[in-house]
Amino acid sequence: MSTEQLEHRAQPQQAGEQPSAGPLLPAPEHVLSTLESDGKRRWLKPRLSKGKWWHRRRAVAYVLMIVFIAVPHLRWHGKPLIQLDITSREFTILAHTFLPTDTLLLALLMLLAFVSIVFITAVAGRAWCGWGCPQTVYMEYLFRPIDRLFEGTVGKGGNGRRSLSAPAQVARFIVYVLLNMVLAHTFLAYFVGTEQLSTWLLGSPVNHPVAFAVMAVTTGLLTYDFYFFREQTCLIACPYGRFQSVMLDRNSMIVAYDDLRGEPRKKGKHQPNDGAGDCVDCNRCVVVCPTGIDIRKGLQMECINCTQCIDACDDVMLRVGSKPGLIRYSSQDALQGKKHRLLRARTVIYPLILALVGTGFVLALSTKYGFDARIIRGKGAPFTVQQDESVSNSFLLRLVNRSNTEQRYELSVDSPSIELQVIDDAGLVLPIDGTAMVPIQFKFPASLTQGDGNEPVTLRVRDATPEERLVEFRLLGPRS
Ligand code: SF4
Ligand code: SF4
Repeated sequence: MSTEQLEHRAQPQQAGEQPSAGPLLPAPEHVLSTLESDGKRRWLKPRLSKGKWWHRRRAVAYVLMIVFIAVPHLRWHGKPLIQLDITSREFTILAHTFLPTDTLLLALLMLLAFVSIVFITAVAGRAWCGWGCPQTVYMEYLFRPIDRLFEGTVGKGGNGRRSLSAPAQVARFIVYVLLNMVLAHTFLAYFVGTEQLSTWLLGSPVNHPVAFAVMAVTTGLLTYDFYFFREQTCLIACPYGRFQSVMLDRNSMIVAYDDLRGEPRKKGKHQPNDGAGDCVDCNRCVVVCPTGIDIRKGLQMECINCTQCIDACDDVMLRVGSKPGLIRYSSQDALQGKKHRLLRARTVIYPLILALVGTGFVLALSTKYGFDARIIRGKGAPFTVQQDESVSNSFLLRLVNRSNTEQRYELSVDSPSIELQVIDDAGLVLPIDGTAMVPIQFKFPASLTQGDGNEPVTLRVRDATPEERLVEFRLLGPRS
């Protein structure tokens, strides 16, 4: 801030003096990369630069789009590849179903995902933003191409030659809504499964109003995001970009402009350029940027590492007869001529944590039983003395089939003096991921619990594999 500006701000308004017509401090041309000096949204129409990185990213983006659509339809060992059933709190990931009781496994899985993100960011910077994030993938490789199709700038990008007519704008909006409807349905399939989704699709919305509302709201939000909000999601809404400053270090790979090589910029062919750097100040790296920033100002939170400025600048360098790579993947230290260090504290500690957590996860997974069996004491009196003076205890046996096939369970107790009755044995046959509460009763002579009034018992539960679980509990009866 200049001294003049400070003085101007410090002057109190005199009586009778007209208030200043404009802001006290003149705003720069753009306050933010997407905010004009008058506070209006600066709409970005990035030009397209079809260099080698763009082609690589496009190949990755198409594969990711296909994977996203295909995954809910794929089955492995009779289970969905991924299904996040929130209502029954069961998450199936790569044919393993995690139940609410699998707290340790779920916690380890979350920790693995979190540390992986932190590790990838430390090594490869915002590779996720530029290459894998659905916001970037769909924005750059589905919705912007649609814009360019309507605006007649296919393969070029930038501003259209003429503004879109009203019918063309309506047509474009309808295409957006239809595509977002497909995305919303696919998104919903990850939570409810494709069978349930097909039933809903073929039925009337009146029969499933909640699901219909979820789908309609998701379509609306996606359309708002891709049609209107666009790069603002990366700049304002997504927390990842803000965390990057703590996750990156001076040796993390970033998309960066080589200041030492590029500066001072050339002033043009009719002016003296002695000692000038390689940057010809053509502004191509700025007009291709989907977040509207100038990479030459250094590492910025808004940079999603989309590599478009690399492609644009490489093209310019080749045209002016210079070596490509003025903007390139590099690290802050490497750009300053220091040695790029791959081995450093965070690139050693994070993989160690990953290996530890990963081993713990695999061990916990491999020792997971094919079924769960838990016994819950029935409601009411703890025991009943029968007419024949025998004693009975009622329980509910909770069974969960975690195996990949339907299972029939057999129950037995070791003591010959205890009679086991299964009140309703329909629950002893369970489909994949099936759960049942099976009412059971034990009858035994009153002499069994004489003394303390209880007797420890082990119930054997066996499936067809045969896997066995021993459930220990106490029978209650009259004291002597
Ligand atoms: S500065 Fe370059 S890499 Fe970063 S968002 Fe803009 S075009 Fe993409
Ligand atoms: S594209 Fe390259 S040469 Fe052109 S302004 Fe950007 S950095 Fe300079």
